[in-house]
Amino acid sequence: MKKKSIKVLLLVEDNPGDARLLREMFNEQGLHNIDLTHVACMGEAEEHLGRSTFDIILLDLGLPDEQGLGAVRRAHVAAPRVPLVVLTGSDDESMATQALQEGAQDYLIKGQIDGRSLLRALRYAVERKTLEEAFFVEKERAQVTLNCIGDAVVCTDISGNITFLNLVAEKMTGWSWKEATGRPMAEVFRILDATSRETTPNPMERAVGQNRTVHLPTNCILIRRDGFEIPIEDSVAPIHNREGQPTGAVIVFRDVSAARAMVVQMTHSAEHDFLTGLPNRMLLNDRVNQAIVLAPRHNRKVGVLFLDLDGFKHINDSLGHPIGDKLLQSIAKRLVDCVRSSDTVSRQGGDEFVVLLSEMEQSEDAAISALRLLQAVAEAHTIDQHDLHVTASIGVSVFPDDGKDAETLIKNADIAMYQAKENGRQSYQFFKPAMNVRAVERQSIEESLRRALERKEFSLQYQPKIDLRTGKISGAEALIRWTHPVRGPVSPAQFIPVAEDCGLILPIGQWVLREACKQARVWVDAGLPLATMAVNISSMEFRDDNFLESVFAALNETGLDPKSLELELTESVLMKRAESAASVLKTLRERGVQIAVDDFGTGYSSLSYLRKFPIDALKIDQSFVRQISSTPDDTTIVTAVISMGRSLKLRVVAEGVETQEELAFLQARQCDEAQGYYFSRPVLPLQFARLLKSGIPESAVVVHR
Ligand code: C2E
Ligand code: MG
Ligand code: MG
Repeated sequence: MKKKSIKVLLLVEDNPGDARLLREMFNEQGLHNIDLTHVACMGEAEEHLGRSTFDIILLDLGLPDEQGLGAVRRAHVAAPRVPLVVLTGSDDESMATQALQEGAQDYLIKGQIDGRSLLRALRYAVERKTLEEAFFVEKERAQVTLNCIGDAVVCTDISGNITFLNLVAEKMTGWSWKEATGRPMAEVFRILDATSRETTPNPMERAVGQNRTVHLPTNCILIRRDGFEIPIEDSVAPIHNREGQPTGAVIVFRDVSAARAMVVQMTHSAEHDFLTGLPNRMLLNDRVNQAIVLAPRHNRKVGVLFLDLDGFKHINDSLGHPIGDKLLQSIAKRLVDCVRSSDTVSRQGGDEFVVLLSEMEQSEDAAISALRLLQAVAEAHTIDQHDLHVTASIGVSVFPDDGKDAETLIKNADIAMYQAKENGRQSYQFFKPAMNVRAVERQSIEESLRRALERKEFSLQYQPKIDLRTGKISGAEALIRWTHPVRGPVSPAQFIPVAEDCGLILPIGQWVLREACKQARVWVDAGLPLATMAVNISSMEFRDDNFLESVFAALNETGLDPKSLELELTESVLMKRAESAASVLKTLRERGVQIAVDDFGTGYSSLSYLRKFPIDALKIDQSFVRQISSTPDDTTIVTAVISMGRSLKLRVVAEGVETQEELAFLQARQCDEAQGYYFSRPVLPLQFARLLKSGIPESAVVVHR
């Protein structure tokens, strides 16, 4: 700090003799240049102090207009920042000490002063005042800072009694600085462990004892004076004296309710599905692994049920996502209501749920739960005035039999679920190791299928349909063939379901449609007698929004007459979405495209339904045709199906005719057309063209007219 020299001085002294004496002392000390203003009363002094600045005031305590402390106070009010030295008589020293408490820096006793002590006293007074000012500014700054920061600050002395609270600390503890001062810290700063509710040991003692900054244990809560609880985080540091000895502590803490709530919220959303609020994949994995650890201790098993809704995509597509979402929520609730509270229902995404049965006595318990879940899902869900019916398929895996970790158990339950779907909807299926091989195979088919189109690995073969009255070829059915670069030919029965599952059936189906139309057009242009080209349409293609568009695009691009195109759809495809199916079929019919029901008799046909659809032909499934030769005594179904078709005035086509016997039977029942190895296997386009030219060998068909 820079030393301030004394240049301008105010002397307040009514005794001229004393004043002269002082002036002489200055001169004696070589301070001839000092600018000394001498006044004889307080009123005059105040006037000067209001006008000019002084380095110091020398004040006599016995003035005519003010005596004693009154003079000190008035001088202090008039010039609070100017150092003050008072002059008193030797009989009045106690007054002088009081003057010090009122803010005077020093006092001089008249009659005991000499030039040197006068000068020293004035210098010290100036210095002390400068330090005092600096200290005040520093303290102010600290206090303002402490009140501005968002953290609460509490200071204690060495015995742990409160010495300071900033504004935030006042708010958080409910104590004012004034009230808290001097009270034990434990009374003002009450802290507990949030979980155990036990009092946390006084951190100040630790900080002082270990003489270092310490932190409170995590999960700490502060109990405010009114009992309200606030989660806090803090640190406590000792305060030292010059010798480095702790003299107290300062505790800095903050309200972390928002942060803690955020952590809780974030942990929840990281582990739960946003739509249903159920645990997600991640949390399920944890729970399964936990159950795996605990189950053997109680000699229990763990069941994992993989549940997938049947035809959910269809509901989503036709009624919209908001309704689909509500349906998923409704299903989630039903599933949760079905299981014990110790079990976990989770959503894996989409329409897939996994249920963890954490403590089963035996595997059969899983079967009972699966049945209950299937039933719960199948009951009507009322959503926005719609009564929705949906079924599910469940795959079951059991620990320890089907896997030793969560991932394997879930994967195997998933594989079993696929099997359940294939077995027919609304069923459950336990995992079997053989399924694994199939699943791997399926996976590898899916991977190669993705490349098959661009690598041109698909081709079409054509199988003739024979008009049983004329013995002539009435049409062709296009059948897709896939030659895998390594596996060789893969049958459509194997890869079409996979293509359906992964959505690849859409581009594949479009390719077939276009290719078949193009081929038909080539044959028609060549003058070959081809009445219709039949193309198989899978359920996913038929339900696709762009289905009609892509059929008409294929016709337009190839220039094939729509009357020459026949689409083969299975019963189940039609039944599933009867209303919209009818309208799609109507549009096709209006444009002349023909419709055949494929694999007729295998689905759950209802005649009344079939009547609603504009259908041209029924293709009797080969399993019925086979009955003709295998159980000739019981051919009631074939006969019934043929007559049913006739009564509906539809063209009846028999599929898979292999023997003369079968043919004869069908002809006798006036079946219209037939198709099968007996006439020709599916063949390459060139061979088919030849068949068209030459016709089926006469011997093959005994024509009954
Ligand atoms: P589908 O439409 O019922 O076709 C008839 C199936 O029976 C064909 O099998 C055909 O080769 C076979 N077949 C014909 N005559 C006989 C016979 O006398 N005896 C026996 N045992 N079988 C006969 P493929 O080509 O293996 O096709 C199987 C199924 O795959 C088809 O059944 C059809 O549902 C589907 N499919 C074939 N090509 C396509 C396609 O391009 N698109 C779609 N979506 N599905 C296709
Ligand atoms: Mg077919
Ligand atoms: Mg068929």
